[in-house]
Amino acid sequence: MIDSIFTLLAIQGLPHVSWVDVVDIALVAVICFYAYRLVKGTNVMRIFWALIVIFLLWKGTSMLHMRLSSEIFGQFMSIGLIALIIVFQPEIRRFLLLIGTKTSLTGGDTVWKRILFWRRHVTDHKNKSYVDLYIQACMHMSQSKTGALIIFVRTNDVTDIVATGERIDALASAPLIETLFFKNSPLHDGAVIVQRDQVVAARCILPVSSNGDIDPNLGLRHRSAIGISEQTDVIAVIVSEETGAISYAVAGHIHHAVSPAELRTYLEKNL
Ligand code: ATP
Ligand code: MG
Repeated sequence: MIDSIFTLLAIQGLPHVSWVDVVDIALVAVICFYAYRLVKGTNVMRIFWALIVIFLLWKGTSMLHMRLSSEIFGQFMSIGLIALIIVFQPEIRRFLLLIGTKTSLTGGDTVWKRILFWRRHVTDHKNKSYVDLYIQACMHMSQSKTGALIIFVRTNDVTDIVATGERIDALASAPLIETLFFKNSPLHDGAVIVQRDQVVAARCILPVSSNGDIDPNLGLRHRSAIGISEQTDVIAVIVSEETGAISYAVAGHIHHAVSPAELRTYLEKNL
C-alpha cells in the first residue's frame, strides 16, 4: 500500500521518496520535538527567534543584492555555530544528558528504550501509592511552615548532586521526610533527593537558576529548585518557610502555590 503511494508520487513527477527518507524525516521530527520541549518557555526561545530573524534578514538582503547588509548578516551567521554552542551550552548539556543517561541511581530504562519500546505506558500503570506519603509530608510542613525542598528523580542521572549531600538510602515515609526538614535537624538545610519510595540523600546543594525572569520575591530555595529542573528532568517540590505555599518546578518553570490535590495529580501522572 505505502509502496504504491511512493510509486504514485514518482509517476506524478514528485521527488522520489524512499523508506530511508521517511525514517530520516521521522528522526529529525523526534529530535526537534525533544529540543523544543527542553527550551519551551525559556530564554533560549527568544534567542532562537532572534537567530531566525537574522537568518531571514541575511537571505532577504542577499536576494535583494544588498551587498553590505548581506555581508554583515552573513558574517554573523558564519560565526553563529560557535556562538550557538556557547549560548546554548546548558541546553546542549541537558539534551545530551536526557538521551545518554540511564535512570539514575537505581538503574533502569534509557530514553531511547522508552521511545523504542514505549515503556512509559508500562510505568504509567505501576502503583504510585508512594506519592501519598510525600503529599502528607508536604501538607504537614505547609501547615507548620517548615521549609522543604524535595527533588523527585525521574530518568536523568543526579549522582553529582547526591554527592554534595549526605547519602541516606532509606524507605521514605511522611515522618522521615518531616524529620529531615525539621529546623533543628542537622540535615534540614538544602534539598532531599528521592526516587520513588526511597530517600536517596539529604542536605544536597543544587545549582541556582540564573534566569532573570524569575519572580524577585522568590529566594534561593525556589531558585535552586528551578535551577536543577533546568538542567535535569527532575520534579522539584518546594514548601515555603515564609508562606507555607507548596510549589513545584519542572523544566525550568515554577508552578507556584499549588494545592496538595494538584501536586498529587501532577506527581501521579509524571513520576
Ligand atoms: P522560603 O519561601 O522558604 O523562605 P526562599 O525561596 O525565600 O524560600 P530562602 O529563604 O533563601 O529561599 O531559603 C533558604 C534556604 O533554601 C536555605 O536555608 C537552604 O536550605 C535552601 N537553599 C538555598 N540555596 C540552596 C541551594 N543552592 N541548594 C539547595 N538548597 C538551598
Ligand atoms: Mg525566604
